[in-house]
Amino acid sequence: MEQCKKLSEAVKLTLRGAIRAGGSTLRDFVGADGAAGYFQQRYWVYDRAGQKCRRCRSSVVRKLQQGQRSTYYCPTCQKR
Ligand SMILES: [Zn+2]
Repeated sequence: MEQCKKLSEAVKLTLRGAIRAGGSTLRDFVGADGAAGYFQQRYWVYDRAGQKCRRCRSSVVRKLQQGQRSTYYCPTCQKR
């Protein structure tokens, strides 16, 4: 649970930073709160390891194994 909270915080900070940096398209991901944005963002990369990200169409989606579950992310859209 603590890990989830930390991840959620990190995602919120990342999104906030990107918006501040002027990434207007990232605004589309952020719903009423950061968590909603996070789940929307997952859609673009989910189960797409090794394939092009649906959102930016330039980066290849990475897979991150975290114990029982896998996390997919795009290094361009989701800076970690
Ligand atoms: Zn991307």
